[in-house]
Amino acid sequence: MKNIAILGATGSIGKQALEVVRSNPERFNVQVLTAQNNATLLLEQALEFKPGLVVIGNESLYGQLRADLSGTGIQVLCGEEALSEAAAWPGTDIVLTALVGAAGLKPTIAAIQAGKDIALANKETLVVAGEIVTALASKHGVNILPVDSEHSAIFQCLSGETGNEIEKIILTASGGPFRGRSRDFLATVTRDEALRHPNWVMGAKITIDSASLMNKGLEVIEASWLFGLTAGQIEVIVHPQSIVHSLVQFSDGSIKAQMGLPDMKLPIQYALTYPERIKTDFPRFNFFDYPELSFSKPDMDTFRNLKLAYQALQTGGNKPCVLNAANEVVVAAFLEKRIGFLEMSDVVERCMDDLPFVQQPSLSNYLETDEHTRIFAADLVTKQQKVHLI
Ligand code: NDP
Ligand code: MG
Repeated sequence: MKNIAILGATGSIGKQALEVVRSNPERFNVQVLTAQNNATLLLEQALEFKPGLVVIGNESLYGQLRADLSGTGIQVLCGEEALSEAAAWPGTDIVLTALVGAAGLKPTIAAIQAGKDIALANKETLVVAGEIVTALASKHGVNILPVDSEHSAIFQCLSGETGNEIEKIILTASGGPFRGRSRDFLATVTRDEALRHPNWVMGAKITIDSASLMNKGLEVIEASWLFGLTAGQIEVIVHPQSIVHSLVQFSDGSIKAQMGLPDMKLPIQYALTYPERIKTDFPRFNFFDYPELSFSKPDMDTFRNLKLAYQALQTGGNKPCVLNAANEVVVAAFLEKRIGFLEMSDVVERCMDDLPFVQQPSLSNYLETDEHTRIFAADLVTKQQKVHLI
């Protein structure tokens, strides 16, 4: 029996993780559930899975949730600090970080310091402070098990290859809803069009990131920390069918790929059961339904975010942290229809150029960088809006 904590239980990954738990009640015991605003669903989940602790981020929802759960024996906490308490909660073996954005950093660190394995969906944590997080994980002897489908694919390809040198890895990208489109087209796309991903149903932020290729950029940085690779060892190829989830090329030239239908429940489950594989009734891939799998080069001039992410990784220091914070601000602004699709990259690039560079950041440097970038980016967004109004 594995005792698990799910941070971000009400989101796309969190809900699918609970489906995995529901199908395997003899294997998993949910000890901790957290959400930010969706107290209604959190309450429902708490009543079904009976964890020891639930945390609601939004403090104004605490009183009602506590009242609703009174008499159940479930402890209720609220606020940002409580998230780190939840991550370090005694009695859990593994923490699934399924919350969105840099908000995942502090709780992930708390979980690692408490000796918990991490099932990592929250890629932003590694983008912001990959060096600190991975060093801490080795110090405390905990595993960081990737949930992101591409990274799970790489991880699966590396199974049994200890000591064998990786020449490069190849991350596949669906290309999102705007694959093959020009900059002129992208200048006019709407929020609703960007939210329509062809292959995956995901939370709003990662769906916009997928449309802008920032998601693939964040994944390049995530992969560099997870697998100890340089930017030059990480290639991205566009594969619209999302069947080949990613590939590893070894020093003898051999390439291993991991394949399957696009379904996040598989990588979630693999991270939770690793190193075991357990039986599922998920639909199986049939080659005859996909007579053609295609691959092409990403267009980094049109989708500039991918290029910016490579630059951030190559420069290192706090650059990826700036990239991430600026991106979180612009995605929120795009979702609120406050800036256009292409302007997202403009703001991210300005932030990368203008925010002070720190070569060897400490944790407090990262937190400061994150905060300052958000203020600077929000200001740029407001200025962009004014230009539009004129
Ligand atoms: P969602 O937006 O669907 O869910 C996010 C979850 O985190 C919700 O439970 C939400 O609570 C909670 N949350 C949001 N903001 C905060 C905050 N500031 N502090 C604490 N909790 C917060 O996201 P996804 O499930 O799509 O993605 C989660 C993570 O997994 C992201 O980092 C994403 O990049 C990664 N990922 C997702 C994939 C997917 O298929 N969805 C695939 C690969 C990676 P509430 O519901 O109350 O707002
Ligand atoms: Mg992915």
